[in-house]
Amino acid sequence: MMAWRLVGFGKPPQLQEVPIPAPAAGEVLIKVAGNGLCHSDVGLMDPRFDAPPFPGWQLPFTLGHEVAGWVESKGAGVSGHSPGEPVILVATESDGTCAFCQAGMDNNCDASGAGRGYGRDGGLAPYMLIRNARPLIPLRTLDPVTAGPLADAGATSMHAVRRVLPRLGRGSTAVIIGAGGLGSFAVQFVRALTSARVIAVDVNPARLEYAKSLGAHERLQGVNAATAADLRKLTNGRGAEVVLDFVGIDATIAAGLASARRAGAYGLVGAGMGTLAHPWFHLLPRDGEVFCFTGSSIADLEAVVKLAEQGLLRNDTERFSFGQVPEAYDRLEHGRLTGRAVVIPDA
Ligand SMILES: [Zn+2]
Repeated sequence: MMAWRLVGFGKPPQLQEVPIPAPAAGEVLIKVAGNGLCHSDVGLMDPRFDAPPFPGWQLPFTLGHEVAGWVESKGAGVSGHSPGEPVILVATESDGTCAFCQAGMDNNCDASGAGRGYGRDGGLAPYMLIRNARPLIPLRTLDPVTAGPLADAGATSMHAVRRVLPRLGRGSTAVIIGAGGLGSFAVQFVRALTSARVIAVDVNPARLEYAKSLGAHERLQGVNAATAADLRKLTNGRGAEVVLDFVGIDATIAAGLASARRAGAYGLVGAGMGTLAHPWFHLLPRDGEVFCFTGSSIADLEAVVKLAEQGLLRNDTERFSFGQVPEAYDRLEHGRLTGRAVVIPDA
Protein backbone atom coordinates (compact mmCIF):
# COMPACT_ATOMS: atom_id res chain seq x y z
CA MET A 1 0.00 0.00 0.00
CA MET A 2 1.05 3.62 -0.41
CA ALA A 3 1.53 5.81 2.67
CA TRP A 4 2.36 9.48 3.30
CA ARG A 5 5.48 9.33 5.46
CA LEU A 6 7.75 11.74 7.24
CA VAL A 7 11.24 10.77 6.09
CA GLY A 8 13.11 13.60 7.81
CA PHE A 9 12.23 16.34 10.30
CA GLY A 10 11.70 19.72 8.71
CA LYS A 11 10.88 18.13 5.36
CA PRO A 12 7.60 17.62 3.47
CA PRO A 13 6.13 14.10 3.61
CA GLN A 14 6.76 11.57 0.84
CA LEU A 15 4.48 9.01 -0.71
CA GLN A 16 6.13 5.61 -0.17
CA GLU A 17 5.21 1.98 -0.70
CA VAL A 18 4.98 0.00 2.55
CA PRO A 19 3.65 -3.49 3.32
CA ILE A 20 0.14 -3.89 4.76
CA PRO A 21 0.89 -4.87 8.38
CA ALA A 22 -0.36 -8.17 9.82
CA PRO A 23 -1.66 -8.01 13.41
CA ALA A 24 0.28 -10.12 15.94
CA ALA A 25 -1.20 -11.26 19.25
CA GLY A 26 -3.04 -8.40 20.96
CA GLU A 27 -2.83 -6.11 17.92
CA VAL A 28 -5.62 -4.84 15.66
CA LEU A 29 -5.48 -3.84 11.98
CA ILE A 30 -7.67 -0.85 11.11
CA LYS A 31 -8.95 0.02 7.64
CA VAL A 32 -8.75 3.82 7.58
CA ALA A 33 -11.92 5.62 6.49
CA GLY A 34 -10.67 9.15 7.03
CA ASN A 35 -7.68 10.84 8.65
CA GLY A 36 -7.86 14.45 9.87
CA LEU A 37 -4.82 16.66 9.32
CA CYS A 38 -3.47 18.51 12.34
CA HIS A 39 -1.38 21.65 12.60
CA SER A 40 1.15 19.72 14.68
CA ASP A 41 1.97 17.69 11.52
CA VAL A 42 2.90 20.94 9.78
CA GLY A 43 5.20 21.74 12.72
CA LEU A 44 7.16 18.53 12.06
CA MET A 45 7.72 19.68 8.44
CA ASP A 46 8.91 23.15 9.45
CA PRO A 47 12.57 23.55 8.41
CA ARG A 48 13.31 25.06 11.85
CA PHE A 49 12.41 21.69 13.36
CA ASP A 50 15.29 19.23 13.13
CA ALA A 51 15.00 16.66 15.93
CA PRO A 52 12.37 14.38 17.46
CA PRO A 53 10.49 16.13 20.29
CA PHE A 54 10.36 13.00 22.48
CA PRO A 55 12.44 9.82 22.84
CA GLY A 56 11.28 6.71 20.99
CA TRP A 57 10.53 8.32 17.63
CA GLN A 58 11.71 6.39 14.58
CA LEU A 59 12.03 7.79 11.06
CA PRO A 60 10.49 7.26 8.61
CA PHE A 61 6.92 6.96 9.87
CA THR A 62 3.45 7.37 8.37
CA LEU A 63 1.79 10.62 9.48
CA GLY A 64 -1.76 10.96 10.79
CA HIS A 65 -3.24 10.78 14.29
CA GLU A 66 -6.90 11.76 13.76
CA VAL A 67 -8.20 8.42 12.60
CA ALA A 68 -11.55 6.70 12.22
CA GLY A 69 -12.27 3.57 10.21
CA TRP A 70 -13.27 -0.05 10.57
CA VAL A 71 -11.74 -3.06 12.31
CA GLU A 72 -10.15 -5.09 9.50
CA SER A 73 -8.61 -8.02 11.41
CA LYS A 74 -7.13 -8.76 14.82
CA GLY A 75 -4.45 -10.90 16.40
CA ALA A 76 -4.96 -13.60 18.99
CA GLY A 77 -6.29 -12.59 22.39
CA VAL A 78 -8.22 -9.45 21.34
CA SER A 79 -11.74 -9.72 22.72
CA GLY A 80 -14.73 -7.98 21.08
CA HIS A 81 -14.30 -5.66 18.09
CA SER A 82 -15.50 -7.80 15.17
CA PRO A 83 -14.18 -7.11 11.68
CA GLY A 84 -16.25 -4.39 10.00
CA GLU A 85 -17.02 -2.55 13.25
CA PRO A 86 -16.79 1.27 12.74
CA VAL A 87 -14.41 2.84 15.26
CA ILE A 88 -12.65 6.07 16.15
CA LEU A 89 -9.20 5.91 17.72
CA VAL A 90 -7.96 7.81 20.78
CA ALA A 91 -4.93 9.74 19.47
CA THR A 92 -2.66 9.16 22.47
CA GLU A 93 -0.97 5.78 22.93
CA SER A 94 -1.39 4.13 26.32
CA ASP A 95 -0.48 0.77 27.82
CA GLY A 96 -3.25 0.37 30.40
CA THR A 97 -0.82 -0.72 33.09
CA CYS A 98 0.98 2.36 34.44
CA ALA A 99 -0.27 4.44 37.37
CA PHE A 100 -1.56 7.20 35.07
CA CYS A 101 -3.62 4.71 33.02
CA GLN A 102 -5.01 3.18 36.20
CA ALA A 103 -6.12 6.67 37.29
CA GLY A 104 -7.80 7.45 33.94
CA MET A 105 -5.06 9.95 33.06
CA ASP A 106 -3.92 7.87 30.11
CA ASN A 107 -2.79 10.92 28.08
CA ASN A 108 0.13 10.99 30.56
CA CYS A 109 0.90 7.28 30.11
CA ASP A 110 4.54 6.25 30.34
CA ALA A 111 4.11 4.85 26.78
CA SER A 112 2.63 8.03 25.29
CA GLY A 113 5.82 9.78 24.10
CA ALA A 114 5.68 8.18 20.65
CA GLY A 115 2.57 6.93 18.93
CA ARG A 116 0.52 6.54 15.77
CA GLY A 117 1.40 9.41 13.46
CA TYR A 118 3.95 10.92 15.85
CA GLY A 119 7.04 8.75 15.77
CA ARG A 120 5.31 5.55 14.63
CA ASP A 121 3.08 4.65 11.67
CA GLY A 122 -0.25 6.51 11.69
CA GLY A 123 -3.37 6.90 9.58
CA LEU A 124 -2.30 8.52 6.29
CA ALA A 125 -2.44 5.10 4.66
CA PRO A 126 -5.22 2.65 3.73
CA TYR A 127 -4.44 0.47 6.78
CA MET A 128 -2.98 1.11 10.22
CA LEU A 129 -1.84 -1.27 12.95
CA ILE A 130 -2.55 -0.60 16.62
CA ARG A 131 -0.62 -2.27 19.45
CA ASN A 132 -3.62 -2.94 21.67
CA ALA A 133 -7.37 -2.41 21.49
CA ARG A 134 -7.43 0.35 24.14
CA PRO A 135 -7.85 3.27 21.71
CA LEU A 136 -10.91 1.77 19.97
CA ILE A 137 -14.19 3.58 20.61
CA PRO A 138 -17.17 2.19 18.65
CA LEU A 139 -19.02 4.58 16.35
CA ARG A 140 -22.74 3.92 16.36
CA THR A 141 -24.25 6.68 14.23
CA LEU A 142 -21.29 8.83 13.14
CA ASP A 143 -19.68 8.50 9.71
CA PRO A 144 -16.09 7.20 10.13
CA VAL A 145 -15.06 9.09 6.98
CA THR A 146 -15.44 12.46 8.73
CA ALA A 147 -15.25 11.57 12.45
CA GLY A 148 -11.41 11.60 12.64
CA PRO A 149 -11.02 15.25 13.78
CA LEU A 150 -13.02 14.45 16.92
CA ALA A 151 -10.10 12.25 18.03
CA ASP A 152 -7.63 15.10 18.48
CA ALA A 153 -9.03 18.57 17.73
CA GLY A 154 -12.22 17.58 19.54
CA ALA A 155 -10.82 15.49 22.39
CA THR A 156 -7.89 17.81 23.22
CA SER A 157 -10.32 20.70 23.48
CA MET A 158 -12.66 18.56 25.60
CA HIS A 159 -9.77 17.77 27.95
CA ALA A 160 -9.33 21.49 28.67
CA VAL A 161 -13.05 22.13 29.09
CA ARG A 162 -13.64 19.12 31.38
CA ARG A 163 -10.84 20.34 33.60
CA VAL A 164 -12.54 23.71 34.24
CA LEU A 165 -16.17 22.51 34.36
CA PRO A 166 -16.56 23.05 38.16
CA ARG A 167 -15.69 26.73 37.67
CA LEU A 168 -18.37 27.36 35.06
CA GLY A 169 -21.54 27.68 37.12
CA ARG A 170 -24.40 30.12 36.66
CA GLY A 171 -23.30 33.69 35.97
CA SER A 172 -19.75 32.66 35.06
CA THR A 173 -17.79 33.60 31.94
CA ALA A 174 -15.47 31.50 29.77
CA VAL A 175 -13.09 33.27 27.39
CA ILE A 176 -11.98 31.19 24.41
CA ILE A 177 -8.92 32.69 22.72
CA GLY A 178 -8.50 31.37 19.16
CA ALA A 179 -11.66 30.19 17.42
CA GLY A 180 -9.95 27.80 14.98
CA GLY A 181 -10.07 23.99 14.99
CA LEU A 182 -9.77 23.38 18.75
CA GLY A 183 -11.29 26.65 19.93
CA SER A 184 -14.46 26.19 17.89
CA PHE A 185 -14.95 22.82 19.58
CA ALA A 186 -14.35 24.47 22.99
CA VAL A 187 -17.10 27.03 22.33
CA GLN A 188 -19.50 24.16 21.62
CA PHE A 189 -18.44 22.10 24.66
CA VAL A 190 -18.85 25.03 27.07
CA ARG A 191 -22.29 25.79 25.61
CA ALA A 192 -23.38 22.14 25.70
CA LEU A 193 -22.07 21.32 29.19
CA THR A 194 -22.41 24.57 31.21
CA SER A 195 -24.52 27.70 31.60
CA ALA A 196 -21.47 29.99 31.31
CA ARG A 197 -21.37 32.99 29.03
CA VAL A 198 -18.83 32.47 26.22
CA ILE A 199 -16.60 35.22 24.82
CA ALA A 200 -14.67 34.24 21.69
CA VAL A 201 -11.46 36.13 20.84
CA ASP A 202 -9.73 35.88 17.46
CA VAL A 203 -7.91 38.06 14.93
CA ASN A 204 -9.97 36.63 12.08
CA PRO A 205 -13.52 38.07 11.72
CA ALA A 206 -14.68 35.03 9.73
CA ARG A 207 -13.71 32.70 12.58
CA LEU A 208 -15.50 34.97 15.07
CA GLU A 209 -18.62 34.82 12.93
CA TYR A 210 -18.29 31.03 12.95
CA ALA A 211 -17.86 31.02 16.75
CA LYS A 212 -21.06 33.05 17.02
CA SER A 213 -22.90 30.52 14.88
CA LEU A 214 -21.66 27.82 17.30
CA GLY A 215 -23.09 29.67 20.31
CA ALA A 216 -20.52 32.24 21.46
CA HIS A 217 -22.37 35.11 23.18
CA GLU A 218 -19.74 37.81 22.63
CA ARG A 219 -16.95 38.32 20.12
CA LEU A 220 -13.77 40.31 20.46
CA GLN A 221 -11.57 40.85 17.43
CA GLY A 222 -7.79 41.03 17.67
CA VAL A 223 -5.39 40.36 20.52
CA ASN A 224 -3.42 43.41 21.59
CA ALA A 225 -2.57 45.65 24.55
CA ALA A 226 -6.24 46.63 24.94
CA THR A 227 -7.65 43.09 24.94
CA ALA A 228 -7.42 42.49 28.70
CA ALA A 229 -9.18 45.79 29.44
CA ASP A 230 -11.87 44.98 26.85
CA LEU A 231 -12.45 41.59 28.46
CA ARG A 232 -12.69 43.15 31.92
CA LYS A 233 -15.31 45.55 30.57
CA LEU A 234 -17.31 42.59 29.28
CA THR A 235 -17.17 40.96 32.74
CA ASN A 236 -18.21 43.94 34.91
CA GLY A 237 -14.59 44.65 35.71
CA ARG A 238 -14.04 41.31 37.42
CA GLY A 239 -12.40 39.19 34.75
CA ALA A 240 -13.44 35.71 33.63
CA GLU A 241 -13.73 32.57 35.74
CA VAL A 242 -11.95 30.68 32.95
CA VAL A 243 -9.68 31.67 30.06
CA LEU A 244 -8.64 28.95 27.60
CA ASP A 245 -5.86 29.99 25.23
CA PHE A 246 -5.81 27.94 22.02
CA VAL A 247 -3.14 30.16 20.43
CA GLY A 248 -0.30 30.44 22.97
CA ILE A 249 1.72 33.35 21.57
CA ASP A 250 3.14 36.19 23.73
CA ALA A 251 0.11 38.44 23.17
CA THR A 252 -2.52 35.80 24.00
CA ILE A 253 -0.66 34.56 27.09
CA ALA A 254 -0.34 38.12 28.45
CA ALA A 255 -3.95 39.06 27.64
CA GLY A 256 -5.30 35.71 28.82
CA LEU A 257 -3.58 35.79 32.21
CA ALA A 258 -4.64 39.40 32.76
CA SER A 259 -8.25 38.51 31.95
CA ALA A 260 -8.70 35.71 34.48
CA ARG A 261 -10.48 36.87 37.61
CA ARG A 262 -9.33 36.43 41.19
CA ALA A 263 -9.25 32.66 41.93
CA GLY A 264 -9.88 32.07 38.23
CA ALA A 265 -8.11 29.73 35.82
CA TYR A 266 -5.98 30.22 32.71
CA GLY A 267 -5.32 27.14 30.56
CA LEU A 268 -2.58 27.15 27.91
CA VAL A 269 -3.50 24.76 25.09
CA GLY A 270 -2.17 26.38 21.90
CA ALA A 271 1.40 25.51 20.93
CA GLY A 272 2.32 29.03 19.81
CA MET A 273 5.57 28.83 21.80
CA GLY A 274 4.94 32.19 23.45
CA THR A 275 6.52 33.42 26.66
CA LEU A 276 5.45 35.60 29.56
CA ALA A 277 8.15 38.23 29.71
CA HIS A 278 6.93 40.36 32.61
CA PRO A 279 7.20 39.83 36.38
CA TRP A 280 4.84 37.02 37.23
CA PHE A 281 3.41 38.00 40.58
CA HIS A 282 0.87 40.68 39.70
CA LEU A 283 0.08 39.19 36.28
CA LEU A 284 -1.20 35.82 37.41
CA PRO A 285 -4.76 35.44 38.68
CA ARG A 286 -4.59 35.94 42.44
CA ASP A 287 -5.23 32.63 44.25
CA GLY A 288 -5.86 31.20 40.78
CA GLU A 289 -4.78 28.28 38.65
CA VAL A 290 -2.54 28.23 35.58
CA PHE A 291 -2.30 24.94 33.74
CA CYS A 292 -1.17 23.29 30.52
CA PHE A 293 -1.37 19.78 29.19
CA THR A 294 -0.82 17.53 26.17
CA GLY A 295 -3.35 15.42 24.35
CA SER A 296 -6.50 13.84 25.69
CA SER A 297 -7.68 10.74 27.48
CA ILE A 298 -9.95 7.90 26.45
CA ALA A 299 -12.71 9.43 28.59
CA ASP A 300 -12.32 12.78 26.79
CA LEU A 301 -12.93 11.22 23.37
CA GLU A 302 -15.85 9.17 24.74
CA ALA A 303 -17.41 12.43 25.95
CA VAL A 304 -16.91 14.06 22.53
CA VAL A 305 -18.39 11.09 20.65
CA LYS A 306 -21.39 11.09 22.99
CA LEU A 307 -22.13 14.77 22.29
CA ALA A 308 -21.69 14.25 18.55
CA GLU A 309 -24.03 11.25 18.57
CA GLN A 310 -26.66 13.39 20.30
CA GLY A 311 -26.42 15.87 17.44
CA LEU A 312 -24.97 18.57 19.72
CA LEU A 313 -21.70 19.03 17.86
CA ARG A 314 -20.80 20.59 14.55
CA ASN A 315 -17.70 19.01 13.01
CA ASP A 316 -17.16 20.80 9.70
CA THR A 317 -14.73 19.00 7.44
CA GLU A 318 -13.31 19.41 3.97
CA ARG A 319 -12.56 16.15 2.16
CA PHE A 320 -9.34 15.50 0.25
CA SER A 321 -8.30 12.52 -1.85
CA PHE A 322 -5.10 10.64 -1.00
CA GLY A 323 -3.22 12.40 -3.82
CA GLN A 324 -4.22 15.83 -2.53
CA VAL A 325 -2.31 15.54 0.77
CA PRO A 326 0.40 18.13 -0.13
CA GLU A 327 -2.30 20.61 -1.18
CA ALA A 328 -4.30 19.95 1.99
CA TYR A 329 -1.25 20.54 4.23
CA ASP A 330 -0.44 23.71 2.28
CA ARG A 331 -3.94 25.08 2.79
CA LEU A 332 -3.84 24.08 6.48
CA GLU A 333 -0.51 25.87 6.94
CA HIS A 334 -1.81 29.05 5.30
CA GLY A 335 -5.18 29.09 7.04
CA ARG A 336 -7.16 28.50 3.86
CA LEU A 337 -9.40 25.63 4.96
CA THR A 338 -13.10 26.06 5.66
CA GLY A 339 -13.24 23.02 7.97
CA ARG A 340 -10.87 20.41 9.34
CA ALA A 341 -9.12 18.65 6.42
CA VAL A 342 -9.93 14.94 6.19
CA VAL A 343 -7.96 12.68 3.85
CA ILE A 344 -9.71 9.63 2.43
CA PRO A 345 -7.14 6.93 1.56
CA ASP A 346 -7.27 4.80 -1.58
CA ALA A 347 -7.61 1.24 -0.45
ZN1 LIG B 1 -0.11 3.78 30.90
